[in-house]
Amino acid sequence: AVQAYSHRTQKSKEMYEAARLVMPGGDTRTTAFFRPYPLTVSEGVGPELHDRDGNRYLDFLNNYTSTIHGHAHPKIIERVNHALSLGTSYASVIEEQIILADVLCARVPGIERIRFCNSGTEATMFAIRAARAFTNRAGIIKMEGGYHGTHDTAQSETSSMGVPARVAEDIYAVPFNDVEAMERLLIQRAKEIAAVIVEPVMGSAGVIPPLPGYLEGLRELVNRYDVLLIFDEVQTLRLSTGGAQSKYQVTPDLTALAKIIGGGFPVGAFGGRADIMSLFDPAQSTSLSHGGTFNGNRVTMAAGIASMELLDEHALTRLETLAQRLETGMHETIERLAVPASITRTGSLLHVHFTEQPPINYSSTLLSRNDLAALLHIELINRGIFTAPRGMWNLSTVMTESHIEQAVQAFTDSMNVIAKC
Ligand code: PMP
Repeated sequence: AVQAYSHRTQKSKEMYEAARLVMPGGDTRTTAFFRPYPLTVSEGVGPELHDRDGNRYLDFLNNYTSTIHGHAHPKIIERVNHALSLGTSYASVIEEQIILADVLCARVPGIERIRFCNSGTEATMFAIRAARAFTNRAGIIKMEGGYHGTHDTAQSETSSMGVPARVAEDIYAVPFNDVEAMERLLIQRAKEIAAVIVEPVMGSAGVIPPLPGYLEGLRELVNRYDVLLIFDEVQTLRLSTGGAQSKYQVTPDLTALAKIIGGGFPVGAFGGRADIMSLFDPAQSTSLSHGGTFNGNRVTMAAGIASMELLDEHALTRLETLAQRLETGMHETIERLAVPASITRTGSLLHVHFTEQPPINYSSTLLSRNDLAALLHIELINRGIFTAPRGMWNLSTVMTESHIEQAVQAFTDSMNVIAKC
């Protein structure tokens, strides 16, 4: 598989070798790397990517769930072009920012007030800062294997190199989908804990949905122990017009957003209860400082408005139908070939695991055969399907039934190879 890949992607290989001379790893994103070397993409067109060698791929990665309307969507381009013609950023209020803030406050139940930043990393960092300031406590509980970006607090559990040990002292991790574990920790520590931060559906850990009642149980516990609840909806906002909190009807105190709300441009946002968010009001005598030269810039806001407009009930229903079709097709293949694989899915987010049972938390994903996931990834690329190296797929609204059929066929052909391993 790797040989066939290298054969098809000579120009990407040359680009990678040139890039490595000036950037460690040949890129600026750990998550976009895979072996033997990543593709150099020259263009994105609707649901497709074109690489430097002229190969075409159906994009089931969509910049890790950001480009939910595919690439170069005409409605987004139209808005962005208009924004560009007005100058891109100036230190003042701009109308587009108010419009996008209005849209998000109206759509997401837990967001009464919102502020923008430039990444999901900043969004979770400021949501945590707000929770700590509001409660005057330092402790944060996260889920084992939960990904909230790359700031120190977010990474102290999963990737601790370079993170001071004293940062990790305030961070506690419990398994997802385990209310009892959370309660045991709260019984011991609640007085030190500012907030619980959780992705309502675990994303990077492997698209792991909450078991029935889990999120409700969490909400009830944090109320009982007087701790704030932060939902990281950076990936899950796409699950309904109001995000996972709307889908599962559990409202957090604070929410972190990013990805789709920027229509393909750098973005983040954090919002929540008005009393907590008012900490950021600089008109108050004491307030939390929140700077950022490009926060709420016109181009991102314009693209975000278009992206949210395009993600209406009709688009969500279509995504659900297509994703169901993809899941069913994959299941049929897995059953027929009897490969040790399972699928988890919520809405248009899906993950292929090489485990007998669908995982329900991070530790159960560790049983997955990483070698087979890596092989599937390259086999799929060789058949024109671009997914996340570890097995995550997500759909865009510009996909059609025939794209899904194509993907199921490529998945079946790839699994045929894997079944013989
Ligand atoms: N939280 C979650 C749940 C994410 O999936 C990500 C990005 N994959 C982040 C936070 C960080 O977002 P960004 O890459 O924009 O910093």
